[in-house]
Amino acid sequence: SAAPLGSSVIPIVNKLQDIFAKLGSQSTIELPQVAVVGSQSSGKSSVLESLVGRDFLPRGSDICTRRPLVLQLLQTKRKPDGSEEEYGEFLHLPGKRFYDFSEIRREIQAETDREAGGNKGVSDKQIRLKIFSPNVLDITLVDLPGITKVPVGDQPSDIEARIRTMIMSYIKQPSCLIIAVTPANSDLANSDALQIAGNADPDGYRTIGVITKLDIMDRGTDARNLLLGKVIPLRLGYIGVVNRSQEDILLNRSIKDALVAEEKFFRSRPVYNGLTDRCGVPQLAKKLNQILVQHIKAILPGLKSRISSALVSVAKEHASYGEITESKAGQGALLLNILSKYSEAFSSMVEGKNEQMSTS
Ligand code: GDP
Ligand code: MG
Repeated sequence: SAAPLGSSVIPIVNKLQDIFAKLGSQSTIELPQVAVVGSQSSGKSSVLESLVGRDFLPRGSDICTRRPLVLQLLQTKRKPDGSEEEYGEFLHLPGKRFYDFSEIRREIQAETDREAGGNKGVSDKQIRLKIFSPNVLDITLVDLPGITKVPVGDQPSDIEARIRTMIMSYIKQPSCLIIAVTPANSDLANSDALQIAGNADPDGYRTIGVITKLDIMDRGTDARNLLLGKVIPLRLGYIGVVNRSQEDILLNRSIKDALVAEEKFFRSRPVYNGLTDRCGVPQLAKKLNQILVQHIKAILPGLKSRISSALVSVAKEHASYGEITESKAGQGALLLNILSKYSEAFSSMVEGKNEQMSTS
């Protein structure tokens, strides 16, 4: 089953990469990094897991994420027999493939303890994990420790400042998309996520607001005005989600079941009627996809000029030969063919996506 993230972007990226492969050059379609920020236990790791569609991150009511986890998703080809193989590999354990995703979670925990100790210590030293799968697009997600105020365990007295500095080092990069997570059962005006995202991205061009825990709001309250941006406006808007509760985690409830339950939650609450484009993890994935498509659109002219110059150099090469060999001629024709198809096809593909987007 494909993960929600990337379903609409993968075909475009694949096409572009095919073109570059045919030109004999390496693909350079670099997609932006996506980082999650927010206070501790706001649901950051839960949101990332749902986006990837696999269970592999430590989650819980205590401090679980104590080192930055740089999660590089890498798309692999499906095997010739159609079967798929998904596995993880850590930078600190080169060559060791983890096919069992709960083993990946255990290794994240063990490696966190190795560097940051077993007593709630936090370290800015990254854990780097690659996930290889035919169902992902090549993108890097960063799971970050949450903002805390009161030192516990082995944490130093300036823990809050340290964590903030660590988070800023990721999200201040102009190419980083920020998923700012705030639980619905806390006051948005007190949101650590929006505060730190606002520091890194004051104009809000790369910050998506995510409101978690819609299922455990005070009776008589709802998140409608939050999601509509009436409480604190955000340029790219908000998405409300329902992740698995701690009880669901203890009961080993699967991501798939959780997504079904989330959908049912929104469907059964009239207050969220008419807000379907702002509710649920699949909508968050869709929003990310739209931003990625915009990004691809923005880099298209650069890609196009790279192809044009590749074509010019081949043409020059041809001119310098007295006689053009069969294979060279074939190559030139191929390039010409690709280039002309490329311009219309990709423009219309991207424009087509945008038309779909503007109606949503
Ligand atoms: P993080 O510290 O921000 O990474 O938060 P986690 O993803 O580890 O989640 C913290 C706790 O909140 C866990 O026990 C989750 O099960 C729970 N949780 C996260 N999102 C939701 C949600 O939408 N609803 C409910 N009921 N619990 C949630
Ligand atoms: Mg976490």
